[in-house]
Amino acid sequence: MTLEEALRELDALQKKISAYDHALGLLSYDGLTGAPKGTAANRAQSTGVLSEELYRLQTGPETAELLQCLEESGAALDRKTQRTVYLLGKSIRQMRCIPVEEYVAWQRLLVEADDVWHTAKERSDWPLFAPVLERVFGTVKRFAGYCAPEKDPYDYWLNEFEEGTDRARCDEFFDALHAGIVPLLERVRTKPQPDCTVLRGTFPVEAQERFSRRLMELIGLDLDHVGLATTEHPFTTSLGSHLDERITTHYHTDDFASSMFSVIHEGGHALYDTGSAEELAWTVLDGGVSMGIHESQSRFYENILGRSRAFSAYIFPVAAEYFPSLRDYSAEDFYRAVNRAEPGLIRIEADELTYALHIMVRYALEKRVMAGELAVAELPGEWNRLYKEYLGVDVPDDRSGVLQDSHWSGGAVGYFPSYALGSAYGAQLLRKMRETVDVDACLRRGDFAPINEWLRARIWQHGCLYTPAELFRNAVDEPFDPGAFIAYLTEKYTDLYDL
Ligand code: ZN
Repeated sequence: MTLEEALRELDALQKKISAYDHALGLLSYDGLTGAPKGTAANRAQSTGVLSEELYRLQTGPETAELLQCLEESGAALDRKTQRTVYLLGKSIRQMRCIPVEEYVAWQRLLVEADDVWHTAKERSDWPLFAPVLERVFGTVKRFAGYCAPEKDPYDYWLNEFEEGTDRARCDEFFDALHAGIVPLLERVRTKPQPDCTVLRGTFPVEAQERFSRRLMELIGLDLDHVGLATTEHPFTTSLGSHLDERITTHYHTDDFASSMFSVIHEGGHALYDTGSAEELAWTVLDGGVSMGIHESQSRFYENILGRSRAFSAYIFPVAAEYFPSLRDYSAEDFYRAVNRAEPGLIRIEADELTYALHIMVRYALEKRVMAGELAVAELPGEWNRLYKEYLGVDVPDDRSGVLQDSHWSGGAVGYFPSYALGSAYGAQLLRKMRETVDVDACLRRGDFAPINEWLRARIWQHGCLYTPAELFRNAVDEPFDPGAFIAYLTEKYTDLYDL
């Protein structure tokens, strides 16, 4: 095979992989959004067949020969192709480690686990969910052993979600956050809480839906390429390439801010994905490079921009067009209410200050289950104990406790630390961005273009061309520094609570 032929085949292979991913992604998305309740088994059947075909395509002899030819060409390849061959080779080598029948069973298990989790959460029925979660953890651990027998299984999965991360790095990072956040939170708790009545009232779903569209346009999403649906747990997914992005939200009629910040959060993910350079579509370099960098974008939009005083000044009068009860309040009332720092039960509704504590609970539990130090059956009890210890709250039922998140039923063990890393990356991005962009002035006039352009140039357009650490370092011109996040929180909450 000549190099020219190999490059043509590489292009065709990536397009085929994208097509399978597109179909599988759409099946999963349908299951999570509009599909009727009784259709999970039907989707599991099709998912099984397509996953097996995809597995055979990627692990077959033709692909092996192609990759070998390209790997041997090494230095003759441009940087983009080298990185493509590296990432494709890595994922295929990992796949080959997993026996095909186990890989297919895993895909089916995920469909089943998601279905059971929905019912279990609805009924707050932990015993219904526990056996399937046991199988998820068992499989995750077994797969790590197949792919990297020399590695600790939890380290393996942490590194899968954020290249370069392991328990030692996470322990150090969370210790730094704990040391910065806990004393700050203690000082905040000695102060009176802001009046939050601005957030209370009745907010019809129909008005919230129209407001969601307005927010999506405002932050710069192209609605011809980004769709919105409703689900129990908000998420973002790309279908086939960055040209078709779907985000979801959840509406509460007594609380418009919940969906508002979900839409901005998921919108941040979608901005990142859809910001990939055009030529990366249908390649393995398309879309976000890691979950940590992904969360740095979503949490940047949701919190650093979305919950800023400058953006509140702009968005509050806009929100009052949709929700007339807001007219009795000021933008400053809204700003203070949406930044009320108070330990609570639900991660996705946590404020910026306590959020990382929710992540620390999940990190501590995952780490112990993966190490075999904690049985899945013991999770609710330990969850409740750690919520009391870290956040000082009593968990009344498993629905608002251990059953609240979809990550474990989705097989995403090792994902949670990405949220906290993302928050910390975001604060450092802000510090750097402020050297050249007047962020507050942009937000006060509702103009996201200069902010989006800065991120597009430094983060989005590169897709997976660099490792997360390289990408981040190039973006901020210095190594990762969690101190930027502590400084950001300290400044914000000192002002808010007059500490
Ligand atoms: Zn997210």
